[in-house]
Amino acid sequence: MQIQLKKITVRELTRGYEDNEEGGVRGYDGRLDIRPPYQREFIYDDKKRNAVITTVKRGFPLNVMYWAEREADAEVPYEVLDGQQRTVSICQYVHGDFAYDFQYFHNLTPSEQDEILDYELFVYVCSGTDKEKLDWFRTINIAGERLTEQELRNAVYAGPFVTDAKRYFSKTGCAAYNMGRYLINGSAIRQDFLETALLWKAQSESRPGKKQTIEGYMAQHQHDANASQLWQHFSAVMTWVAATFDIARRKAVMMGVNWGELYDRFHGEVLDKAELDREVARLMVDSEVQKKKGICPFVLTSDEHWLGLRAFPDDIKLEVYEAQGHRCANPLCPRGGEELDFAEMEGDHITPWRDGGRTVRENCQMLCRECNRRKGAK
Ligand SMILES: [Zn+2]
Repeated sequence: MQIQLKKITVRELTRGYEDNEEGGVRGYDGRLDIRPPYQREFIYDDKKRNAVITTVKRGFPLNVMYWAEREADAEVPYEVLDGQQRTVSICQYVHGDFAYDFQYFHNLTPSEQDEILDYELFVYVCSGTDKEKLDWFRTINIAGERLTEQELRNAVYAGPFVTDAKRYFSKTGCAAYNMGRYLINGSAIRQDFLETALLWKAQSESRPGKKQTIEGYMAQHQHDANASQLWQHFSAVMTWVAATFDIARRKAVMMGVNWGELYDRFHGEVLDKAELDREVARLMVDSEVQKKKGICPFVLTSDEHWLGLRAFPDDIKLEVYEAQGHRCANPLCPRGGEELDFAEMEGDHITPWRDGGRTVRENCQMLCRECNRRKGAK
């Protein structure tokens, strides 16, 4: 990994500046990609844009910017990693796209123009392996508009795969958004849908002792011609969810579930949608169930840990602890009639939740830790 500090003048930066549909946004004699594919296209408002010009005009320092050096044979050798909006503001002003203090750049005297063109920007140029770049990007990703984890990965594994994947997953109103908006948290533009799709795909390819990760998957497929396999997997998961649960009526408990994992486990089984829905409806109104997001995983797996079932609060436990004379409620307890510390005991539902037991005083007994564990294991 190499990191090199360069001083770039505004004159050099803005030379050959262009912003068009096909070519994207270029500067630095066409050698700098100012808006590489992974960057968001957010726009500075006038106030922020003017603040950049004020800083340059007064000769104050702007924060350091970061460029990444691309592979040796890349057509455009550099890309902006951090500093896109500042770069665009400067280029647009010099290009005559907007006026500052009622004056366009061409309205300035030649010496005023030169002062701006001679202003020096500090740029760190980094080059290295993908892994090194990712670590570096994470480290510098501290100021300004933060990049998300997935935006960082898109930067590191940029290529035809990412470009195609973004068509499906990364635009407002994209295909993935339309299918998954009630099931997936976050925003398409910030790459949350793409990240989720990659996570599910990586999970589906994981084997015992051989875990696939998002980075691993992206590294393997970086130079694929397109992302159609990723899309097919994602849409298979979405189709399965729609065939298994009543999304329109149950979406309140369906957002953010790891649907990919459930798909991997259950898509080969014949499931009774009506029966599952009755179960979901019942659990949605059960006040003992505190993790509503766990309802769908629970009705498939029958694993109660998904539900975050209510536990006894301390006041009830203390009351019962006193009433039991500080002894374990199990008559066959190996610690017999011994008096125990409150901290050594746990609140237990006499009738368990699955048999209709509630978290109320009458249904509480205090067991020593060992007895509670043994009862729970049954
Ligand atoms: Zn006991």
